[in-house]
Amino acid sequence: MNTEKTYTLRDLETTEFSGTPLAVIGHPIQHSVSPAMHNAALAKLRETDSRFIDWAYYRFDIAPEDFAQALALFHKRCFLGLNLTIPHKVQALDLIQGISPDAQSMGAVNTLVWNELGYDGFNTDGYGLSRGLELDLGVMLKDANVILLGSGGAARAAAVQCVLSGCAQLYVGNRTPERLQNLLTVLGGVAGSTSTQTFALNDLPEDLPECGVVVNATSLGLQASDPAPIDVAQLPAGWKVYDMIYNPTKTALLEQASARALPIANGLSMLIHQGARSLELWSHSAVDAHAMMTAACHSLKLPPRYA
Ligand code: NAP
Repeated sequence: MNTEKTYTLRDLETTEFSGTPLAVIGHPIQHSVSPAMHNAALAKLRETDSRFIDWAYYRFDIAPEDFAQALALFHKRCFLGLNLTIPHKVQALDLIQGISPDAQSMGAVNTLVWNELGYDGFNTDGYGLSRGLELDLGVMLKDANVILLGSGGAARAAAVQCVLSGCAQLYVGNRTPERLQNLLTVLGGVAGSTSTQTFALNDLPEDLPECGVVVNATSLGLQASDPAPIDVAQLPAGWKVYDMIYNPTKTALLEQASARALPIANGLSMLIHQGARSLELWSHSAVDAHAMMTAACHSLKLPPRYA
């Protein structure tokens, strides 16, 4: 089977996916580098473990109105694992058998694992972020001060991860106050000692601690012409900046932070490590994140880097 093709619901109905199939499902999905990443990691696993000889990872474009029907078919056809991306991460909650506690708090799942009755849901985005911060910037979330920009799905996963990991201070800013309020409501249900404060994006809190990390989880920066979501000049000199956006590789936020000599990193590491964690859940094996990074860089036409 061709793992580079984008499959449809019709293909799922009519085609035999032999062996142990895995897939990412989204709409749109054409841009996804997940098949390249996962198939590279599977090739590595195969080198030392014959269990993975017939595993393959595919890409499916499934519209939201077809998602429930598709999920039942994926189950019937024994797709062992599924990654969900926009717009399916929330809708899936009503259709799965079980859910991990952190995914429950985040209110979204990005990883499904087959069982006899249906799928169990997990969310590896928060894990991916925490690994990315650790590896790229040397930031451990425990006891950290975090400024989180945004209140959408990715920000929600990040905020829950911050509280579950024991952040000291979490400052959350968003353009739309109602969405910010929704995120606070979500955090209200998560047990932890993190102190949370909100702010408007154009007005960073005063008296920030000397050091901490800014995490951009807004989509501002996806267009090359986008401005930075905050005024970087207001950050104390000990702060670091992580942008979940990885394409473009250097957003205005990162440009301005690096002009001030603040350490910076983009979201490629988060992408790799959320994917590696998904594959670990399916395979119960250690996954070669570096192979995933090499494949992702190749697909995105970026210079190779280490994971
Ligand atoms: P989402 O649910 O649509 O949320 C978008 C967020 O961006 C909201 O907080 C929204 O604020 C804000 N926003 C949009 N346009 C804005 C503007 N012009 N000015 C200020 N704020 C603006 O999207 P998401 O799924 O959370 O994704 C957010 C970003 O994270 C995207 O860039 C995505 O590519 C990235 N991401 C990266 C990874 C990774 O692995 N690296 C994983 C997931 C997501 P309002 O509430 O005011 O609309």
